[in-house]
Formats: sequence, structure tokens, C-alpha cells
Amino acid sequence: MPHDLPKAYDPTAIEDHWAEYWVRENLFAQPAPAAGTSPESAAFTVLLPPPNVTGQLHMGHMFEQAEIDIMVRWRRMTGRRALWVPGTDHAGIATQLMVERQLATEGTSRQQLGREAFEARVWEWKRHYGGAILDQMKRLGASVDWQREYFTMDGHLSAAVREAFVRLYEQGLIYRGAYIVNWCPRCQTAISDLEVVYDEHKGHLWEIRYPVLTVDGQDSGEFLTISTTRPETMLGDVAVAIHPEDERYLHLHGKKLRLPLMGREIPIILDEWVSRDFGTGAVKVTPAHDPNDFALGERHHLPSINVMDDIGHINENGGAYAGLDRYVARKRVVADLEAQGLLGAIKDHIHNVGHCDRCKTVVEPRLSTQWFIAVNKKPDDGGASIAEKAIAAVKPGADGKKAIRITPEQYEKTYLNWMENIHDWCISRQLWWGHRIPAWHCANCHKTTVARVDPTACSHCGSAQVTQETDVLDTWFSSGLLPVSVFGWPNISAENRADFDAFYPTSLLITGFDILFFWVARMIMFGCWFSKDIPMSDGSPRPLAESVPFREVYIHALIRDANREKMSKTKGNVVDPIEIVKQYGTDAVRFTLASMASPGTDIAFNIARTEGYRAFANKIWNAARFIFMNVDRAAEIGIKVDPAELGSIPTVASDAPLEARWIVAELKRTAIGVNQSLETYRFDVAAHLIEKFFWGDFCSYYLEIVKLRLDFSDLAKETATRAALTMLVRVFEVALRLLSPFMPFLTEEIWHTVYDGNPPAKSIALSRYPQSDDSQVDHRALGAMIVLENLISETRALRKDLGVEENADVPIAVCAGPGINASIGGGYKPFLKENLAIVERLARASEVRFVQQISASLLRRHTYAGDVAVIYEATIDVATERDRLTKDIAKYEKGLASAERQLGNEGFLAKAPAHVVEGLKKQEAETRLLLEKARAALDALPPE
Ligand SMILES: [Zn+2]
Ligand SMILES: [Zn+2]
Repeated sequence: MPHDLPKAYDPTAIEDHWAEYWVRENLFAQPAPAAGTSPESAAFTVLLPPPNVTGQLHMGHMFEQAEIDIMVRWRRMTGRRALWVPGTDHAGIATQLMVERQLATEGTSRQQLGREAFEARVWEWKRHYGGAILDQMKRLGASVDWQREYFTMDGHLSAAVREAFVRLYEQGLIYRGAYIVNWCPRCQTAISDLEVVYDEHKGHLWEIRYPVLTVDGQDSGEFLTISTTRPETMLGDVAVAIHPEDERYLHLHGKKLRLPLMGREIPIILDEWVSRDFGTGAVKVTPAHDPNDFALGERHHLPSINVMDDIGHINENGGAYAGLDRYVARKRVVADLEAQGLLGAIKDHIHNVGHCDRCKTVVEPRLSTQWFIAVNKKPDDGGASIAEKAIAAVKPGADGKKAIRITPEQYEKTYLNWMENIHDWCISRQLWWGHRIPAWHCANCHKTTVARVDPTACSHCGSAQVTQETDVLDTWFSSGLLPVSVFGWPNISAENRADFDAFYPTSLLITGFDILFFWVARMIMFGCWFSKDIPMSDGSPRPLAESVPFREVYIHALIRDANREKMSKTKGNVVDPIEIVKQYGTDAVRFTLASMASPGTDIAFNIARTEGYRAFANKIWNAARFIFMNVDRAAEIGIKVDPAELGSIPTVASDAPLEARWIVAELKRTAIGVNQSLETYRFDVAAHLIEKFFWGDFCSYYLEIVKLRLDFSDLAKETATRAALTMLVRVFEVALRLLSPFMPFLTEEIWHTVYDGNPPAKSIALSRYPQSDDSQVDHRALGAMIVLENLISETRALRKDLGVEENADVPIAVCAGPGINASIGGGYKPFLKENLAIVERLARASEVRFVQQISASLLRRHTYAGDVAVIYEATIDVATERDRLTKDIAKYEKGLASAERQLGNEGFLAKAPAHVVEGLKKQEAETRLLLEKARAALDALPPE
């Protein structure tokens, strides 16, 4: 049966086919080993950072998933039981926002629908549109176990969330309290510090004069001036603070002020926190609307007056301003102060304003009642706090080993610094979409009941007047639990722990820096905390090293556009991965991403590279076609390549032809390098090694040399032909496996064809990854080939210098230099004679002349083993040359005239973008140069 590979490489056709095949055949499913059996090899487990259920695949995802997939495919091929678990996150804020927008277009709102109907509506949305991103992953060939796909609101994962909440509450580690949070008036929820993005804003600093009161409460005529960027918050002021040693204000100690517009008396308090250099050195204190003021208020036992409601309007505590939007109120407050002569200077002020990362609304720091995890509190049993455990997991232990290794190492410090300064984690969100907090408030005794099963009565007083908390949990609460919950926690029993034993801790997490604190840190906190109570399978207590959610974290770089600008929709420089995949194929895009993935630097994605790797894939495709053509031709005359001989790196006899010994040595060396590079996450180095092998060694040299050995017309050469052909196919098959994690589609297609549709495994992804070690590498063959390659490339360069026509074979002269490379042993001349056919073919030498000295009249080049010259005298046909030059000159003159006309057109110059004008000027200069050259060459032609 002929080896059937379509003539042209068409990535779309083969990729759709194999992507569907991998899913249909369930090739990457990794069930837990049956209870009581011990698996032959260690697991390699990776969790997909779950994209939002609302998400669409962007370049960042594709980059991250390409890295994960390369790792997983590679580890799988090295014999590990690889498991990659996919899933999506319910993404509270993002999803709720999406559905709210949809409702708005229908003229309704979530409030009009009510909570239950709204939740149903979100589920419906999810059924229709959710998880599109996973379908995109399927098309891109991610080698995940689709049978394990989860959604963070699935029943068993929601049960884990509830158990985690109740357990922490019972341990005294969850509490409810008033705190300053970042409030988004649009989303109407608290958002975490990490979800606030800061932009520089041109604003103002308003000075306000607060009247100082006499002891009997009368205006003294003196004023204390404060400055603020948010004047409307003064409605909630409860004091003004000064530094106790500020000499300007010593006489004001113990006095009171009248709060303008509101009329209430407020004290002047002394606190060393106040900076004497900022503004006037007097600071208004608004505990309900600023985190620093909140701390001041706590220290001085001041009340908190919240003057704003959930949508950013002034509430009933704001006196005459109640009901006004915060910015309307700001204007009114400033105008009223001015009218009363209490407004001081207004200064321009550039300050950082926080915006909601989701909806871009300006965030309002605001006091509200929230739920918290006391991450720094030691539990009652006296053990370490949640944060302490999360720190210990990353620091070297008593044995000097780290339970979690973070790469690049710099992020370890970033993580530790954050964790060592962590505040209590605010876990409540005022949303409807998410895991509703399992707490019930009692209208009778006002106490709270937290329960695993929905209660019908208060656990304190027995009253039936209990209502469930309306807040839901922060999305990171559930995603933080994933490493334990996807493997069955909390239902880990003797009969039901195979998954957990087999796959926990996971092996590796590959993710971006942007979620180091959001997600990575939460997983470490929860993983260590909840798994510590699960004994090891032999019943022994679980040590920290086995409690961590993952053993390694690799933080990948961020992807930017070709000009190193952040990709953003507003800038219009977003590269859509699906579009470029359509254009160049997944394999070429993956290879581009891998080749650019050097650690620690952002990646400037350049489509020209993808074009290059499309050509690389094409090169391999054509090599395959050439090989199969020869295999089929050989078969016609009875020379067969036995498939049973394939599947391992060939061993080569020491008397085999140089190219066979060399290519096998290169193959081994490449395998060693690629394995080592992947071990240290150097995807870029691995990709370059493979590219160099395939393109440089295999296609440019080896294939060309092998052509010399394949002689189907001379039956006397049958043994040599068969040996050469078998070696060619064997090396190619191994090289495909080497490339497979990087270009899974192309290699799958060709690999099946190598085996004529009957491969030894269902997929190349299930075959073994090539391995070798340095002691097996034939360094002599490598050295000898370097000498030969050097001679060939220098000869090629000489031919170019001399203008030798590409197809002309011309003689070369070589003379041996003094120091001969040890790898060619017996001497240069015998070595070249032995490999004469190779030199003649690759250097296009009609003859190799061995000389004592190269004639002084010849252009020469040095090579590793001596000098080389090309013996060639140019002959030109004057008439043809004159004709060619005349045509060129006419062409250049025309081009030049057109460029000059455009550059002389002022209308054009005014409208054209700068880079177009620049390009045109450059083109004009280049054309002028070419024209001059051509004219000079024409003048120099001898007469006919
Ligand atoms: Zn918002
Ligand atoms: Zn009660």
C-alpha cells in the first residue's frame, strides 16, 4: 500500500481531523488506578487554570495552554501517567455582568427578575454560551482528560465549598465584621484589592476651612484648614487629626471644630500617623470611607458614619445632600462651602484613582459588613496559622528542601513578601451569582447559624425566623479549593481515595504572574490547610510536602504585540489566536510561542515568526513526501523497510557511512538537549534545538547526502540502498516523536503514514519520547561532519562571491592546513576522498583537486582543515547583459519618477501617516542607488 500523504501541507484539514480523533478516542483520559494496585509509574498531574465560563480564547490563553500541553505531552511520552484536568470558573462578577447586560437590552434587570429567576437565567446562559473556550481548546488539540471536565458550581465542587466554609467557621477562622472595602457602585459589591486597577487622574485638591470652637461651643473666629480629593466625604467626618508635635497647632490641642455644612461638633485628635509635610498637616477623619481613617477611628474609638449607599449616592446620613449622586454631591458641597466662605485654595492634583477591573467604574472605599478568613490566627490546637503554613510550603524546610518550587525564582520572594504581609481575606461578595454563604441570621436573637445542611431554626434560640445571608463567596474561594476538590475532597474515605492518592499533590502549575496572589496563593493556603487532615494511604500523618496543592509552579511570561505593547481592545492590537491558527495552522502558532518563551521577559508576538514556522512545517511535510516516495519506489523492486525495525534510536556500526553515524549522533544530542531544556522550562531552547536538527541537519544535509545512496537501478547496491533507506526512515520516525509535543498535528499525521496507517499505538502522543545520554553520542562523527560542513559552506560562499550560476558544477581546489582535526584521523586527503561524493554533491564540485598550495590568483577561504578555492572564470554574454541592464534602468527610472511625484505632492504628505512617508523616502533613495549601479555596469560593458 503506498504511503498516502496529500501533496500540499494543509494544516486545517489535518488538524480538524486529529483534534476530533483525540477527543473521540478519549486518548488522554487518565482514570485512577484500581484500588489496591500500585501503578507502574508516577503520575504527572496538572490543573488547567480555569478560564471564566464567559471567556473567549485569547493569545494569553493559547500561550499558557501551549506550554502546559508541551509539558504534559512530553511527560506522558516519558512514561508518566499524565493527567491534565480541564474546567471553567463560574466567575461571579464577570458572568453576572454579562447576563445583566443581556437583561438590559431586553428592558429588564436582575432586580426586576428576583434572585431565583436571575440565577436560573444565568444557568440558562451558561448552557447556551458557557465554556466556548473549552471547545476552542479541543480544536487546538490540548491533551486534557475531557471526562474530568468540571465547572466550579458543579454539585460536588459546591459541596466542597460549603464544607470548607463550615469547617473554617467551626475552627474560629471565619468571622463577620465591618471593614473598609473597595466598593464598586456599578457591580454593587465589594471587590478585592487585586481587582482594582489604578489610573493616574488629573483631579483637584480642595482646601476646606473648619471653624475652631471656643470652650463654650462658639465660633472662635479661627479656622483649621484641611485638604481633600473627595470633598463629599466630609459629610461623614468625625474628627480632624494633627501630629502631636506639630508646632503650628499646639494651641489647638483639646479643642473642637464645627463640621461645615453638617453643623456637628467634632474633636481635634492627635496622632503620630499624620504627616506634617502633606497639605496643611491637618487631616479630616472619615472612618467609613477611607482605610487609613478607619484605622485612626479604631485607635481613637471614634464612630463611623457611612454617608453613601450601594449605588454611590449620598444616603440619609448626608443631611441636605441625601439622594444625590456622589459627583453631583461633590459639586454641590464645593459650591456651598464657597458660598459660606469656607473654601480655601483649589489646587490641581494628579492622583491615582482606583477603578473596578470588570466595569471600569471608579471604586469607592466604603465601610461595610463582610465575611473574612482570619488567615493569621493560630487555630485553637496551637498549630500554625493558614498563612504560616502557606509560607512554610515555599521556604526550605529542616531538610533544606522546598515543598513547592517556584520558577523563575524571583517570584518566590514576591510570593513570600505578599504572604508575610497578608491581611485577613475578605471572602464575601454582594452578588447573586456564586456560592451563597451558608449562614442564617436570626431575627429573634440576632445570632448567626452556620450549617452543612440548610437549617429551619436558629441553633441558638430555636426561632424559626432565620434568613440566609445574601452574600456569595469570592470566586477565588472555590477555585482555591480545586486541587483538593477535583480529586474528591471532602469525601475521602478508605474506599474512595484512589483519585486523591493517585493525583494529589499535583505536579505542576503553569500560570501567569497576574494570578499569583489571586489564585496560586489561595490554592496553597487551602491545599495545605484541608489536605493535612487526610492521612497518607498507609495511615501515616500527611507531611507538609504531601499537603501542598502542587510541587512546582512555573510563572510564564506575558504576551504582547510585535511592538511590545500590551494587547488591548481599545488599542486595536489584539491578535486573535483563532484567526492566525486559521491562517497558519495550530502547529506553527504553537511552535512560535514555544520558540519565544524565554523566561522572565515579555513576549513580543510577531506574525513573521509564525509565517517562518509554517514554512518549517511545510519543509518537514515535503521531507516526508520525499521519503515516502522513495520507500514506495524501493518497495516496487522488493526493497522493504520493515516497520518492526522502527521505534527506537538506531544503533550504527562504526564502519557505516559518515552521514549515518553523524545524523544518529545529532539526533541523540538533540534528544538530550531537548529533554534537559524541558526539565527547566526552557521551551525556547528546546524549540530551537529541534528546529536546528530538522531544518539544518536533517533536511539541508542528511537528506541531500542520502539521495546519493539510494540507487534503485543497480541491484548490486541493494544492501547499501536498503540500509540507507531504513536508516532514513528510522531517524525520521524518532525525530517526529521528538517534535510531537511541539507540533502534535503534523507529527501525528506523518507518523501514521510512516506506519502505513498501522502504527504501534493509537497516537504518536502515546509513543515514547526519545532519550539518550552523552556516553552514547559518537563525537568523532560529529567532529568529522563539522569539517565537511565547513568546507561545503565556505565553497558555497565562494561560489556566491564569484557569481557562479546556481546549477553549474565547477572544480574546487583544496589544500590541507597544518592542524588537522582529530576526528578525521588518517588525514584530510583520505578523509575527503572517502566522502568525495558528499562534497561533490553538496558543494556542486565537478572535481576536487588536492593541491600543495592554492594559486595566488584564486579567491580563497579558510576552513577548519585547510584552504579552499573555486576554480571559475566568469563568462558573460554581453548582448544579453546589455539588454537586461537597459530594462532594469527603465524600470528604476519609472519607479523613481513615481516616488518623486508622490513626495512632491503636499496633499499626500499632509494626509499620509509618518511611517508611510518615511518608507517612501527610503524606497526613493534605494531606487536611486540601484539606478546608478545599473548605469555604471552598462557603461563598463565591453563593446560587442
Ligand atoms: Zn464594577
Ligand atoms: Zn436565634
